[in-house]
Amino acid sequence: MQMHVLPPEVVSLAVLDGGRFPVRRIYCVGRNYVEHIREMKESDERDPPFFFQKPRDAIVENGGRVPYPPDTQDLQYEVELVIAIGKGGVSISKDQALDHIFGYAVGIDMTRRDRQKECIKRGIPWEMGKAFDASSPCSEIRQAGHCGHNLKGRISLSVNGDIRQDSNLDKLIWTVPEIISNLSMQYALCPGDLIYTGTPAGVSAVVPGDLLVAEVQGVGQLTIRIE
Ligand code: MN
Repeated sequence: MQMHVLPPEVVSLAVLDGGRFPVRRIYCVGRNYVEHIREMKESDERDPPFFFQKPRDAIVENGGRVPYPPDTQDLQYEVELVIAIGKGGVSISKDQALDHIFGYAVGIDMTRRDRQKECIKRGIPWEMGKAFDASSPCSEIRQAGHCGHNLKGRISLSVNGDIRQDSNLDKLIWTVPEIISNLSMQYALCPGDLIYTGTPAGVSAVVPGDLLVAEVQGVGQLTIRIE
């Protein structure tokens, strides 16, 4: 008997003021706030940021639940500003970068920290630590036409009402135009790409039942529960 294989669902995110944003790829920046590099103690703070990817079906929408994943005893949150790409391109200059942005969102780069540290120690790829199921919660997208590009506000995350991460977007090592320009030197960016821009200090472990509220001033808020 022939097996019937259905195409996977199109992953998309709600756009504030209506419509959906189809997600093509999820890129993430590692090491983009000095204070987080210091708390991780895994690398020299002068080492430049870099990129890794997560599968698009790891998206969890605002108000959703993140099942506590297997293969970890140290599940951690990382609040991040997310860029949503609306116009593709390669070798994009910093001056042109903002023209490629559809909008912004608030994301949490969920991390199996024990697995990630093992990957760093063994010099092997980060997938086990970063690219697991439900590892990419993301809020609705606010269109750049509404919030502008001059984002200078607070980026924060609370667990059960206690503030754990509290920083400002002006502490990004690579700015938004630099991130887009650098990434487009390595990959052809396409509409539907999301870029998680890195996390500030204050990461720590969560357990089932915890309520996480992430916020980027001027962009929005993202609430998820670990179950
Ligand atoms: Mn991150």
